[in-house]
Amino acid sequence: MNVILIYPEFPDTFWSFKHALEFIRKKSSSPPLGLLTIAAMLPKEWNIRLIDVNVQKLTRKDLRWADYAFISAMTVQRYSAHTIIDQCKEFGIKVVAGGPLFIYEYEDFKNVDHFILNEAEITLPLFLRDLEQHSAERIYQSTEFADLEYTPIPDWKLVNMKQYASMNVQYSRGCPFNCDFCNITALFGHKPRIKSTEKMIAELDGLYNAGWHGSIFFVDDNFIGNKKVLKEELLPALIQWKKDKKGIVFNTEVSINIADDQELMALMVAAGFTKVFIGIETTDENSLVECNKKHNLNRDLLENVKLLHRSGLQVQGGFIVGFDHDTPLTFQKIFNFIQQSGIVTAMVGILQAPPGTKLFDRMSRSGRIDHMMSGDNVDGSTNLVTKMDVDILKTEYSGLLNHLYSPEQYYRRVKTFLQEYKLPKVKWNMNFQFITENLMAFLRSIIKLGIFSKERLYYWKLFFWTLFHKPRSFAQAITFSIYGYHFRKICELHVV
Ligand code: SF4
Repeated sequence: MNVILIYPEFPDTFWSFKHALEFIRKKSSSPPLGLLTIAAMLPKEWNIRLIDVNVQKLTRKDLRWADYAFISAMTVQRYSAHTIIDQCKEFGIKVVAGGPLFIYEYEDFKNVDHFILNEAEITLPLFLRDLEQHSAERIYQSTEFADLEYTPIPDWKLVNMKQYASMNVQYSRGCPFNCDFCNITALFGHKPRIKSTEKMIAELDGLYNAGWHGSIFFVDDNFIGNKKVLKEELLPALIQWKKDKKGIVFNTEVSINIADDQELMALMVAAGFTKVFIGIETTDENSLVECNKKHNLNRDLLENVKLLHRSGLQVQGGFIVGFDHDTPLTFQKIFNFIQQSGIVTAMVGILQAPPGTKLFDRMSRSGRIDHMMSGDNVDGSTNLVTKMDVDILKTEYSGLLNHLYSPEQYYRRVKTFLQEYKLPKVKWNMNFQFITENLMAFLRSIIKLGIFSKERLYYWKLFFWTLFHKPRSFAQAITFSIYGYHFRKICELHVV
């Protein structure tokens, strides 16, 4: 059996970092963790190739070779997934599909032979068993949640790590909270399920021994869902593990209540975490009540973010506009918050309702679902009939994004962040590749941002300000300049 695992193309989005990756000559942010995990669950006698369309072409040779294609996709990869499935069918390949896109939209993919939906640890073995007996069904679904202890270690040997800026691991699934626009609890449940510390360390060893000595993203939707085990077991083990490792830095996603736990923040920093994505969503308490984001209520969100920065964790923030309680004043309030907090990477999107969420059900009942959502958080679209006039909403949204990512405001925010941030110590792996990659990115930033761009004045101001006031943060300032270039390109694409 010849099998290709295919990961469809990501469009040019906020999180693709496509325009920033050009500076370090990488093709994608991270490899498809789900497919690599699937690969480790397939029969050992099968021949397996991974084609991540974001870093390599799917060729006719690949398609002639394969008997089966396994495709995994998120909503935002919908268009590319359709194209790839059609290509596979032209070559007479059987197509097996799984992942969030197909869980809710499988009826739109008539050409797919088999769907392995929900948690593959449960549904894939059933498919493989039936396939062996020539009785495979079209749809495999389950409402049960898998025990992550039996999730295999991803098959890293399928990946050309040089093409990627970061690697992914997963420690937990599920979130104890209940935000009504979020499909995480529908997909993975409320009770955080975690891997054992031994298993996590074995996964990290596998990655390190496969040659990865860089940034690692814990893809968990809420890494701090089970704080007790995290503080007592995983984080102390990570601190030990990292002692003789160079170049490793971690980042992840957490909820804002991390700011209530000084010990947790300190342990995460000691374990090598440098960045955390947090869904702040809005500064308006009525809108927080509306979306049931209770853990963001009755707290000083601004001070919480600043505390995280002072503790050594850079906050990347998610914000939403378009709640029923929003008014034209909301946009200015969110702008002020982001600027004052120094959240450099601020992802602001219009509210969308993913299928499977409480919001989707609520809006369906009142006839306010207009179409399926795009899955791109920052493309200025919504699948809802909004309370605010949609033209006003989109105009205000465009204005907010353009203002936030204008060179003047963006570089000002970087400075606010650097003034407050307690830069953690990182043991970089100063090998030839690391030095040349970073040196070349630095030189490219000078040429592209310091000479041939409208923002050059701001670039040089930050360059010299950091050099004289925060020399240890110089590399970070250059990185932010490069990120800013990417964010501006995204704004130009969608909202100018
Ligand atoms: S805290 Fe985050 S992951 Fe958890 S339900 Fe809310 S939005 Fe989803």
